[in-house]
Amino acid sequence: MGISQNLKQLRDEIPSHVEIIAVSKTMTVSAIQEAYLSGQRAFGENKVQELLEKQRVLPADIQWHLIGHLQTNKVKQVVPVVHLIHSVDSLKLLTTIDNEAGKIGRCVDCLLQVRIAKEETKYGLTMENIQQILDSEMFANCANIRIRGLMGMATFTDDMEQVKHEFLELAAHFKHIKDRWFSKDNAFRELSMGMSGDYPVALACGATMVRIGSIIFGVRNYSS
Ligand SMILES: *Cc1c(COP(=O)(O)O)cnc(C)c1O
Repeated sequence: MGISQNLKQLRDEIPSHVEIIAVSKTMTVSAIQEAYLSGQRAFGENKVQELLEKQRVLPADIQWHLIGHLQTNKVKQVVPVVHLIHSVDSLKLLTTIDNEAGKIGRCVDCLLQVRIAKEETKYGLTMENIQQILDSEMFANCANIRIRGLMGMATFTDDMEQVKHEFLELAAHFKHIKDRWFSKDNAFRELSMGMSGDYPVALACGATMVRIGSIIFGVRNYSS
């Protein structure tokens, strides 16, 4: 099957209130063009350099989502073009984004990345980190960012019970954070969770955005 058929099948399956982010990391410009021509506008990249190279040559109405770890020294480059940063994992990163966004008169939408996986390697904030950030004066002074919700990645495992447990934990964190800090803020409403291997579980647990790569574009080849 081709990219456009894969996308069509996903759209038939995923409720329309859930946004599909087509994860195009390592994929070619022509593969992205094929998805674009079938109506897809939201694409996810995990590296700033790759996002910028693709953004330069692809249509301007594409919404670029940064889903990978962001280093503070790359913030300045990505802020002018990014639609949503899913991977905010420190107060320092948040204040850097705020500062660069302010310089160009933008307000940048961000998600806080929460560590839910039981693996050591995954980036992300604990609930304690999040509380410290949201209660801090530095955060209160950030006028050029908008927190839209949370992002999380489950443990990479075939055990869907464990995955479900982790997604439910993230959904509970979302509710708690919403109630405590964003109860009057309609912008705080996104829960980005679920990838090719676990998105049905994420949908059942309340995802509003799923980040899907291999099902749309095929298996990635990192050697090229
Ligand atoms: C690569 C990636 C995805 C998509 O992975 P697939 O398994 O190909 O769907 C989703 N989220 C993040 C953060 C990723 O790095």
